[in-house]
Amino acid sequence: MHRSHTNGELRIENAGQEVQLAGWVQKIRDKGFMIWVDLRDRYGITQLIFDEERSEKAVIEQAKTLGREFVIQVTGTVIERQSKNEKIPTGKIELLVSKLQILNGAALPPFTIEDETDGGEELRMKYRYLDIRRNPVKESLIFRHKVTQEVRNFLSNEDFIEVETPYLIKSTPEGARDFVVPSRMNEGQFYALPQSPQTFKQLLMVGGMDKYFQIVKCFRDEDLRADRQPEFTQIDCEMAFVEQEDILNIFEGLTRHLLQKINRIDIAEFPRMSFEHAIKTYGNDKPDIRFGMEFGELNAAAKHRNFKIFDEAELVVGIAVPGGASYTRKEIDKLIDWVRRPQIGALGMVYVKCHEDGTYKSSVDKFYNQEDLAKWAEETGAKAGDLICVLSGVADKVRTQMSALRMELAERLGLRKPNEFAPLWVVDFPLLEWDEETERYHAMHHPFTSPKPEDMALLDTDPGKVRANAYDLVLNGNEIGGGSIRIHDKNTQALMFDHLGFTPEEAKEQFGFLMNAFEYGAPPHGGLAFGLDRLVAILAGKETIRDFIAFPKNNSGRDVMIDAPSKIDAEQLTELNLKLKH
Ligand code: ASP
Repeated sequence: MHRSHTNGELRIENAGQEVQLAGWVQKIRDKGFMIWVDLRDRYGITQLIFDEERSEKAVIEQAKTLGREFVIQVTGTVIERQSKNEKIPTGKIELLVSKLQILNGAALPPFTIEDETDGGEELRMKYRYLDIRRNPVKESLIFRHKVTQEVRNFLSNEDFIEVETPYLIKSTPEGARDFVVPSRMNEGQFYALPQSPQTFKQLLMVGGMDKYFQIVKCFRDEDLRADRQPEFTQIDCEMAFVEQEDILNIFEGLTRHLLQKINRIDIAEFPRMSFEHAIKTYGNDKPDIRFGMEFGELNAAAKHRNFKIFDEAELVVGIAVPGGASYTRKEIDKLIDWVRRPQIGALGMVYVKCHEDGTYKSSVDKFYNQEDLAKWAEETGAKAGDLICVLSGVADKVRTQMSALRMELAERLGLRKPNEFAPLWVVDFPLLEWDEETERYHAMHHPFTSPKPEDMALLDTDPGKVRANAYDLVLNGNEIGGGSIRIHDKNTQALMFDHLGFTPEEAKEQFGFLMNAFEYGAPPHGGLAFGLDRLVAILAGKETIRDFIAFPKNNSGRDVMIDAPSKIDAEQLTELNLKLKH
């Protein structure tokens, strides 16, 4: 045994005991006649003392050769410390070292292994094993473990069975490109890595597993955006003999359990909101409802007053900014510049100051009287002292712009509190979504999602209006999970593929296995998947998921530590029957 205790364990009660410790050298303070070393491991820090009067000379000589991050093992006696450190649990004691063994030396780390490090992000990723030694990263990984353990506890208690599904599969369309793996044994053929285990979990339901879950890696070859990982983890779930209501209840229960166990917060019922309402009121399908600033639609009170811009707009929409009436001209101009940035894309912004005396002052006073502006205040819920910000244009675009403005202002006003949690179910998503590029309808969730029976008739007349039995779980403005009730009969599934532009042959060739399975007694079923990385980050009150992944990829999808992706040699290419263009 290298150690009898960990470095987080010893207390004043252990004084007088002889113990062995092992770990990394965090810090050395050499006063000549006395040397203190902070010894670190996952569990904490224990102070070691080498003392001219009480330690052997040879041990002191050895201690003088130590450097940062050396791995050592020591034997010594626990003694009470003279100057105690109240900040750490081992702060009342130190270890008077009698024996020191250097288990391994260490090169000088490229950044400091401290909570606040001097290392930049890329450098820390390159030496991730050193970064993991730092408390914030270590704590994040331990936090993630706690969350996954609670997920397993809850679902196992509810009779869910964790089943592994294969990684080398055939493409599952979830809206992204597949990562593919060439098959050496089958010339010209490829596996795809799963974008999710969607079809497998449905087949598990046909197989009678009844309640399935899996904490599973998924792979999507998407254009990279900040904080998106090409491989990520889902808590993937499926249940048989259920309706939407059953699924919402179970997974509301899981989320409540996590908030209770991890955050010590009790949340009663989760509110529900239709997709349509979310879009109209918040401009997006994952609203942060920790604060108000709901959209007020102003068409009736803003059009036909000779203000051309509003007259020509499809939608005029406003929000009330609490306390915004006190903004200076300069501050408002800055806000206007902000909405006009290309990333937001508004052409301009109209504003109204709601004064304490009940009067209004707007940037369009030429066109609107006090009565009109009072109506705007009513529609947006603006009170005395607020500022109304108004945008106009094509409905979809304006809503997106206004949603961005709402989030930005809430951030600036400190309304997005990291330790406040507001879960929300968004339900009744549209089944299909028009894609401008391909000029075709796409499945909004995925092609296995069932339409609402009452909307089936619209499938031929107005496909965009068909609603699905599909739902998302939103937490603090982030989608943390989503799923649907599935189609479980062959004919509806074939009809769906037809609407999505698959010929019967294509449908058969890609999804024949699923449609076949539906011929052998498929139970009604449905499920959902949570994005674990994001869920963990949000529960920890953080926004970047990278911090919660042991070995993340950077913003260009590279693992800078192992240097992947990388070239493979010519022989391997030949063996795989692959040829490069150049
Ligand atoms: N497979 C879906 C996804 O990855 C989740 C589901 O429908 O259960 O989003």
